[in-house]
Amino acid sequence: MFCPNCGAEVSDSAEFCGKCGVSLNNPVKRNVANQIQPKTWLVESILVTLFCCLPFGIVGIINAANVSSKFSVGDIEGAKIASQQAGKWTKWAFWAGLIGGLIYFVVMIAIGGFAAFMDM
Ligand SMILES: [Zn+2]
Repeated sequence: MFCPNCGAEVSDSAEFCGKCGVSLNNPVKRNVANQIQPKTWLVESILVTLFCCLPFGIVGIINAANVSSKFSVGDIEGAKIASQQAGKWTKWAFWAGLIGGLIYFVVMIAIGGFAAFMDM
């Protein structure tokens, strides 16, 4: 890019012109400053990994980590997509854990009932 003040060529990521020192209001950096980081889902994904469903939860954690890393380099769009992915996998992990827990519960009751029946 070129300095709007003096026309000198400056680096695309520069905040100030090296020649005249004027603030360049770099649009990429200004964008990041005005943006709020999308929800990372990091806490939720760790919780579901621990308590519900490990494989889905890990995908959630990987995406959750991507939200912060992409956001920190100014990739707002990438951070939003990672946030959506993290949320999706965290919810999947939650429901998988819940349904798995229910099935476990039902099976335990069935086995318990069967055992009681055999005792008679
Ligand atoms: Zn300049």
